[in-house]
Amino acid sequence: MPTPRPKAPAVPLDLGCHLSIAKGLPATFDSARKVDATCVQVFTRNPRGSSQREVDDAEIATAKTRRAAAGVRTLVAHIPYTVNLASPRAHAWDFARQVLHADLRAADRMGAQFVVVHPGTHVGDGLDAGLLRIVDAVGHALEGYDGAALLLLEGMAGGGSCIGGTPEELARILDGLHGDPRVGVCLDSCHLFAAGWDLRTPAGVDACLAAFDAAVGLDRVRCLHLNDSLKPLGSHLDRHARIGKGELGEAGIRSVVTHPFLSRLPMCLETPVDDWPDFAEEIRAVRELARVE
Ligand SMILES: [Zn+2]
Ligand SMILES: [Zn+2]
Repeated sequence: MPTPRPKAPAVPLDLGCHLSIAKGLPATFDSARKVDATCVQVFTRNPRGSSQREVDDAEIATAKTRRAAAGVRTLVAHIPYTVNLASPRAHAWDFARQVLHADLRAADRMGAQFVVVHPGTHVGDGLDAGLLRIVDAVGHALEGYDGAALLLLEGMAGGGSCIGGTPEELARILDGLHGDPRVGVCLDSCHLFAAGWDLRTPAGVDACLAAFDAAVGLDRVRCLHLNDSLKPLGSHLDRHARIGKGELGEAGIRSVVTHPFLSRLPMCLETPVDDWPDFAEEIRAVRELARVE
């Protein structure tokens, strides 16, 4: 018997993509409008380098106006991938700690609702030691922080010394922070699939979310990175593919974006488009898949 089509989401998708902030935050919102994105993700600083771009009050005020004009509901700030909160190297770990502390505040000032960070890699030093360093770094970032932006730990593809590839590992970090309400979780459809969750059917999505609910609580899950996966189920390889062009395929993306819980989360595409205007096509494709006859 074929699986019945899920009901259409009650609210329109809050869907968008990762965009460059190189020309300033106001220009980012202009780009968002051009690709019809209501959700925008930006890096808090150059993903390769380490320098933080100073954003002054005037730029923030202009950005607010442009954001409203563009109809952007959700702004997500992503900490650069090079920041490793679990690093066993003292210098790298100190740097990661400082970046998280500074960028959480900077992103909050910019009006971001969420600040996403990868838990990190322990680089052979062991899971327990890595988890302790993550908890310490996040705890440091939250010291005296009373902003509105929530810090979200991203669920990863796992494998190797990568931390955060299972709901239980994310739960251990949250437990280490005594369930601090300023911390939540961001999921990624590609990472989940690579971690072994078969999202290609509604039942598979349900099973995955049941595990996250049991370990961290679904109320903690606040944002979704929507990506297809270039690599197969359980490969633990984090390689994004364009929507419908990867191993998740159209069926997988459809079961994710029509899921009653996931369809209500802000969604950011991080798919490998040639250039940002191509996100318009990706967003259109997702909206098409989300439509239920
Ligand atoms: Zn990420
Ligand atoms: Zn990824």
